[in-house]
Amino acid sequence: MVRENIEVVRRNIRQVCERCGRRAEDITLIAVSKTKPFSSIQEAQAAGQRIFGENHVQEILDKTAAFPELEWHMIGHLQRNKVRQVIGKVSLIHSLDSLRLADQIEKEAAKMGITVPVLLEINVAKEESKYGFFLEDAERVLKTIAGFPHIQIKGLMTIAPFVEDPEENRLVFRKLYEFFIDTRAKNIDNVSMDHLSMGMTNDYPVAIEEGATMVRVGTGIFGERQYR
Ligand SMILES: *Cc1c(COP(=O)(O)O)cnc(C)c1O
Repeated sequence: MVRENIEVVRRNIRQVCERCGRRAEDITLIAVSKTKPFSSIQEAQAAGQRIFGENHVQEILDKTAAFPELEWHMIGHLQRNKVRQVIGKVSLIHSLDSLRLADQIEKEAAKMGITVPVLLEINVAKEESKYGFFLEDAERVLKTIAGFPHIQIKGLMTIAPFVEDPEENRLVFRKLYEFFIDTRAKNIDNVSMDHLSMGMTNDYPVAIEEGATMVRVGTGIFGERQYR
């Protein structure tokens, strides 16, 4: 199942890229394995998948210990008291969503003598239920965090609203892409706009059409999640 699903997602990515004149190699697929057992991760690994996304700290610790050869990304809200456990274990945090969290990461990373790569999470649609910075605050925040020597901003991330028709999210993705390109052109010191993480199972084709460089697909690879 997992192998076939990954092949379908990869084929979809290739087809969307062909349609909109992008290169499939420029899209990184993150397999979101939250709540899924080690056996599912092994299946994905056997299908050639290397990068996995998780949103709970304990689960990341268990899975990074079990699969040190894979690359792990933190994609969910990170509590400040868990920062120390996670940094150094994950190769990218997609969800830098507050200045207080940035302060904590800076402090702990300095103690450990490491630099932590992050994406700034943007709440483009200003949903109350979501974390992240508003777009109009993002430039100021980027410039502030750019001054933190142990944090490296590598791009932007958003979680688009939950919608029936993915077309409804096209403008959300387009707005963030415009900000991504504008910011990249400004060449802010210690800020690189390499990654634009947007698009999930329901809307990743639209996100790619609108400029995503990373898509985070869970259900489309591993099936529905069961929360106990
Ligand atoms: C769970 C999750 C995903 C994957 O969602 P699917 O709809 O299952 O593809 C992507 N991004 C984030 C931040 C998530 O929490």
